[in-house]
Amino acid sequence: MDNTSGKKRKVVVIGAGAVGSTFCYALAQSGLAEEIAIIDQNNNLAQGQVLDLVHGHPFFPTVSIRVGNPGDYADAHIIVIAAGAAQRPGETRLQLLRKNATIVRSIADDIVAQKSAGVILVVSNPVDILTQVVLKRAGYDRGRVIGSGTVLDSARFRHLLSEHCGIDIHNVHANILGEHGDSEFAAWSMTHVAGMQIDKYCPICRRCDDCAAKRRQIEQDVRDSAYHIIEYKGATCFAIGLALVRITGAILRGERSILTVSTMLDGEFGLHDVCLSVPSIVSENGVDKIIENQLPDDELAALKASASLLKKAMNQLDLDV
Ligand code: NAD
Repeated sequence: MDNTSGKKRKVVVIGAGAVGSTFCYALAQSGLAEEIAIIDQNNNLAQGQVLDLVHGHPFFPTVSIRVGNPGDYADAHIIVIAAGAAQRPGETRLQLLRKNATIVRSIADDIVAQKSAGVILVVSNPVDILTQVVLKRAGYDRGRVIGSGTVLDSARFRHLLSEHCGIDIHNVHANILGEHGDSEFAAWSMTHVAGMQIDKYCPICRRCDDCAAKRRQIEQDVRDSAYHIIEYKGATCFAIGLALVRITGAILRGERSILTVSTMLDGEFGLHDVCLSVPSIVSENGVDKIIENQLPDDELAALKASASLLKKAMNQLDLDV
C-alpha cells in the first residue's frame, strides 16, 4: 500500500487504556496523523478519551479524533492493537496469554473482514507471541504485521548508557534484541557512543572501574525497568506511547528507519517461524527488510535462546490459528 497517496493518514487504535490513550495523546501532538479512530470494548472509556483529547485541539496540529468501529479498518494506514486483559489474582501467565491471544485473534478477523490494506502494529503483551498470533490469523505478508518489540527497551538502554557516559542520548546508538521480556539482551557489538564502537569508547570514557560489571548491571536494569514502573504506578504508558509514535512515523512517512520492531523471522539468523526483535528497515508497508548483521557468538546464542523460549510459549498456547 502506498501510504503517501492522496488518502488521509489514518491511524486506528484498539484499546483506550493507559497505553492506547497515551499513544493517541502523543500522536495528536506529533502532527503525523490526520485522522485517529479509537476503539475499546468499553465504549464509555473510548468516548471519554476522545472528548478529553479533542478539547486539546487548539493546542496541537489539526487532526480528526473520534470513536471508531471495525469499519474504520478498511482504509486505515496503521491499526495499533493495544487491547488486553489485565492479570487477575490467581491467574497464571499462560491463562492470561490465552485470554489476550483470543482477543487479538478476534481483532485480526475483523481487520481481515474489512479487507484492510494497512499495517498492523501489535503492542499488547506478550507482544512477540501476540504478533505471531495476529500474523498467522490474518495471513498477511510478514512485514505487514509487526510488534512494538524492543523499541521501548532500546530507548531505555540508550537512556541508561547516556546517563552513565554523560553523553547526549542522541549520540548513543544501541539496541536491545530478542524477546520483549526477560530473555532480551543488549547487542553490545552494535552499540556506538559518539560514533565509536563501545569497546573503543570505554577507555576514553573512564567512568567506571569494571566495565564488564557495569554493562551487566545496565542490561539488567533495562530488563527490570517495566517491573519497577509497574510497582510504582501500576502501568507503563509515556515511553511506550512515544515509541509507538516513532514506529508510526516511520510507516506514515516511509522513512526506512532501522528499528527493533518484532517481526517474523524466515531463515534470518538461522531462525524460522518466530517473531522477535532484530534490526529491521521500517517503511510504508511495515518491515521492508531485516538487517541480518554478523552477531558475535554470545549474542547469537542469546538470540537463539530467546527464540526457543518464545517458541515454547507459542507451542504451549496451542491455539488453532
Ligand atoms: P489497560 O487495561 O489500561 O487497557 C486495555 C484496554 O483494552 C481496556 O480499556 C479494555 O477495555 C480494552 N480491551 C480489552 N479487550 C478488548 C477488545 N476485545 N476490544 C477492544 N478493547 C478491548 O492496559 P494498558 O496499560 O493500556 O496496556 C495495554 C496492553 O499493552 C497490555 O497488554 C500491556 O501489557 C501492553 N503493553 C505493552 C508494552 C510494550 O512495550 N509492548 C508496553 C506497555 C504495555
